[in-house]
Amino acid sequence: MVRGFEYKRGQLHCEDLPLAEVAGRVGTPCYLYSASAIVGNYEAYAQACARVPVSVHYSLKANSSLGVLGLLARRGAGFDIVSGGELFRVLQAGGDPERIVFSGVGKTSDEIDYALGAGIALFNCESDAEVELVNRRACKRRLRAPIALRVNPDVSVETHPFIATGLREHKFGIDIVEAEELYCRAARMEGLVVKGVSCHIGSQIFDIQAFVEALRKILALVERLHGRGISIRHLDLGGGLGVGYRREDASPTIDDYMQALSRELAGRGLHLMVEPGRSIVAQAGVLLATVLYRKRSGAKEFVILDAAMNDLIRPALYESYHDIIAVKPNQGPPVKADIVGPVCETGDFFARDREITPVAPGDLVAVCTVGAYGFVLSSNYNSRPRAAEVLVDGAGFTVIRDRETYADLIRGERTV
Ligand SMILES: *Cc1c(COP(=O)(O)O)cnc(C)c1O
Repeated sequence: MVRGFEYKRGQLHCEDLPLAEVAGRVGTPCYLYSASAIVGNYEAYAQACARVPVSVHYSLKANSSLGVLGLLARRGAGFDIVSGGELFRVLQAGGDPERIVFSGVGKTSDEIDYALGAGIALFNCESDAEVELVNRRACKRRLRAPIALRVNPDVSVETHPFIATGLREHKFGIDIVEAEELYCRAARMEGLVVKGVSCHIGSQIFDIQAFVEALRKILALVERLHGRGISIRHLDLGGGLGVGYRREDASPTIDDYMQALSRELAGRGLHLMVEPGRSIVAQAGVLLATVLYRKRSGAKEFVILDAAMNDLIRPALYESYHDIIAVKPNQGPPVKADIVGPVCETGDFFARDREITPVAPGDLVAVCTVGAYGFVLSSNYNSRPRAAEVLVDGAGFTVIRDRETYADLIRGERTV
């Protein structure tokens, strides 16, 4: 997977742009993304298989900034949305509604109406009740809604328990055995067209065999459905491919993953859809921060940054590891420190007992591999304005989101 960050002449660059230049012009904390890394990862999905028709639906819950969506929309990407707000974002960014798939266990009737009006490609339905609701809303408009059932293939994967989704005990999807009856009922509903089968077994998965196992179970379902007169053309395998968070981590490549899927599908006349999020954007982004203070408490050493858990909650929420590197590394022996933010919570840390090159107040550091589930999970906790976002292209950059102001913090509020 493409990262887009490397040291040149002693300082960290994103593509051909020194990170220090962005900090000087935009300030910190700031999220910074490499356009060529994002596009490179997208193209790796889009161009992986010659033998099987593939469409790539970027899952924008990983990073939904308009600048990122626009970049992908211009390359013809499809999108996987999980809310009406995400549909709005895709349309604002110039995305093609006919390449949108709508996932999620709790779609409201307003969201279904909005998506029907926009003419999206596919509703991935997750329950009987949802199938019936989509049917009713479509009948009302004299439309036929394209649907797939998100089935739960009951494969277990090794990942953090908060992001595993493919077991029966999870809230997601419809049991793959029970799905058969529901397909038969949906096929008779006036407001629906049955198009496909979908699944999504979780996130940050390294074991390609788990995806292959899910795909085989789905192919068996497709055959059973065929036997009952229901023909399926589209298989949506969801997202979930893992990425390496440590520089030295070896992760399966997008190409390995796509080749494994296409081997299963060759010659079957089926159309493969994928919904990658993390593997397109995670490594393409860093959070740029300034060291405010160094502090010692007993035997412990702290590096205090101007970025905090409100900017990046992943370490506190998922115990995630992120490399933290100096933008201009100083000489000298490394220090071992907790790298923390200014928020009043013990959970406000980026790393604990981490060895890094010596840093001094005023130095810039980059928290790596935060392009996915980074900014989207940020908040205004402690009344901290949210960070700016910058998209780098070659030696130039665009501010794709302004840093919030204090006035932004109270927008829509009033005293009584
Ligand atoms: C979260 C999600 C994805 C994307 O998962 P990644 O691990 O970011 O690739 C795709 N499809 C569905 C339905 C999801 O919920």
